[in-house]
Amino acid sequence: MSDSKDSKPVWHGVPREEIEWHPTVEHELCIGCGLCVLGCAAGVYAFDFDKRRPVVIAPLNCKVGCVTCSNTCPVHAISFPPLSRIHKIIKKRNVLTTSKKELENNADRVSFRK
Ligand code: SF4
Ligand code: SF4
Repeated sequence: MSDSKDSKPVWHGVPREEIEWHPTVEHELCIGCGLCVLGCAAGVYAFDFDKRRPVVIAPLNCKVGCVTCSNTCPVHAISFPPLSRIHKIIKKRNVLTTSKKELENNADRVSFRK
């Protein structure tokens, strides 16, 4: 996601910090099952064992557009901003031009081969 090792994370040309996309946990609904913590490969969550609740410790690690933890939460305690916000950014910041270039640059890695 970063342009280089030391630079800030960027999502297809848009600084990740400018994109409001991360989970919010409603602690009153949460039953502390840990599915969200264990299921997120991006390290967004830690688990507070005293309170038996997940804590969002790295919101910018959340993959833009991903809602997996929300989908698997058994009590619907996790919410995200509306997807329309991302769609606006895609349009306004010309994300598709960037993504098409990135696709070409990554052809070796992502090409479908029979
Ligand atoms: S998956 Fe839902 S209920 Fe389980 S810990 Fe996460 S927020 Fe709480
Ligand atoms: S939406 Fe995806 S990347 Fe973001 S916290 Fe949930 S599982 Fe992790």
